[in-house]
Amino acid sequence: MRYERPDTIEEATALLAGAEANAFVLAGGTDLLVRMQSDAFEADLLVDIKAISGIDAVSETDDGFIIGAAVPSAALSEDAALVAAWPGVVEAANLIGSTQIQGRCTIVGNLCNASPAADSVPALVAAEAQVRVAGPSGTRDIPVIDIPTGPGKTSLAKGEIIEAVVLPKPPPMSGDAYLRFIPRTEMDIAVVGVGVNLTLDEGGTVTAARIALGAVGPTVVLVDKAADAIIGSKLEDAALDALAAACSDASNPIDDKRGTVAFRKQVAGVLARRATQTAYARAGGK
Ligand SMILES: Cc1cc2nc3c(=O)[nH]c(=O)nc-3n(C[C@H](O)[C@H](O)[C@H](O)COP(=O)(O)OP(=O)(O)OC[C@H]3O[C@@H](n4cnc5c(N)ncnc54)[C@H](O)[C@@H]3O)c2cc1C
Repeated sequence: MRYERPDTIEEATALLAGAEANAFVLAGGTDLLVRMQSDAFEADLLVDIKAISGIDAVSETDDGFIIGAAVPSAALSEDAALVAAWPGVVEAANLIGSTQIQGRCTIVGNLCNASPAADSVPALVAAEAQVRVAGPSGTRDIPVIDIPTGPGKTSLAKGEIIEAVVLPKPPPMSGDAYLRFIPRTEMDIAVVGVGVNLTLDEGGTVTAARIALGAVGPTVVLVDKAADAIIGSKLEDAALDALAAACSDASNPIDDKRGTVAFRKQVAGVLARRATQTAYARAGGK
């Protein structure tokens, strides 16, 4: 196996594009190194992206935030401006694993590992985040929701690397939140995860909403019906009931030892309601 640690994104994409087989980007390694322990796993080339200049930085721009693909989750909570703008995205990233894992893992690795239960992905989808993809033919921005195509699968082509996550600047009176259910208190995989992002008017009425569910389908489910149920409301009980029902209906989970289909569907509604109330309060709603 070859290990490369290029200094530029162009070198990294060229290495991946030129690889004959089984080439992987290495970010924090908290998924990849675990997979490498398996006898069935084979890698011919690992391209470690952590030495690429600027890829470990968070920067605030006029339009929002650019989070480099090698920024560890733990660093996100140290960026006060990011926490103030996108508390839900940061809380999702800070639920991944343990303190030790968060010191290494990245939200881009979480996205590209393409687990249906990945914690940061519903929060990023709710935030309408994009990723900047570098490849042999240049760079393009695409919505986060378009990256995972199924468990363990992404839409990235050969030679492509995600360079950064691009988060928009939230409009005034906006708030986001992420909640997950796990059977233990930490170090467990989400049975259901819910990301919510709301914008209110001056009177506290919801004017825009995005509700994204994780772990209840092969990829994140964006529930437009749940958003429609609360747009125009101040989260009265009827609106929250309709939101919860829409989330339960949109869930199409698997049945396993971690939770039955019926349980997961119910929890999706309960968590969506709670995360929406948190996002509403963060947006300044009373
Ligand atoms: C003990 C433990 C607990 C965990 N708990 C959780 C949890 O609670 N919630 C959760 O969601 N996950 C959890 N995980 C899984 C893992 O930590 C996360 O998915 C993490 O965010 C992966 O990030 P990474 O940087 O370590 O990715 P890596 O392992 O470096 O990479 C993961 C995959 O993404 C690809 N990749 C990485 N970066 C890029 C890039 N820039 N462009 C293209 N492809 C890329 C890699 O090639 C690889 O296929 C846990 C893992 C462990 C070991």
